Amino acid sequence: MTEAFVGLGSNIGEPATQLRRACNALTALPDTRLVAVSSFYESQPMGPSDQPPFLNACAHIETTIDPNELLTALLAIETTMGRVRKRHWGERCIDLDLLFCGDTSVESERLTLPHPGLYQRDFVLKPLAELLGNEYLMPNGLDIGTLLAGCSTHDLKLSSDQLCNGEIPGNPL
Ligand code: ADP
Ligand code: MG
Repeated sequence: MTEAFVGLGSNIGEPATQLRRACNALTALPDTRLVAVSSFYESQPMGPSDQPPFLNACAHIETTIDPNELLTALLAIETTMGRVRKRHWGERCIDLDLLFCGDTSVESERLTLPHPGLYQRDFVLKPLAELLGNEYLMPNGLDIGTLLAGCSTHDLKLSSDQLCNGEIPGNPL
């Protein structure tokens, strides 16, 4: 069983609804349990600035699916949800990034683990800190709080939209 973390992002098509739909899709993955989902955070776009702000969150899953198949499953969820790739770092109804899977390290053409932006992005680290705590040591040996203090800001704001009163759909804990 691997502890894996997925970064979710959306900035078109009712982002909060998109994040909820994506969480539902994660609960439906085989051999996988959705352990927790962070709050939703509004963030300013990292790429082109002529696009709406993003809504970001992180999900913690336990799974026996291997990382390559997990990426395939995440990309399939994006496609099913209607993601269309336009410009680099542009608007998207859903982006699902595999942030890390335990201490697995992968460098292949289609998959890099840990995710290359993991240690620099406040919109990933802040929701992760909520799930794991600031003291948690990331795969590179640094704690989340230290990484957060060193990364550039995307003007994160806790959103008033959340999953659904903290409950995980289909997965009561
Ligand atoms: P971005 O998330 O940087 O905006 P995309 O979502 O369009 O870009 O992803 C582009 C490609 O990145 C995917 O097709 C996938 O093969 C690759 N990729 C490599 N490593 C990862 C990872 N850890 N998580 C998600 N995608 C990854
Ligand atoms: Mg992506």
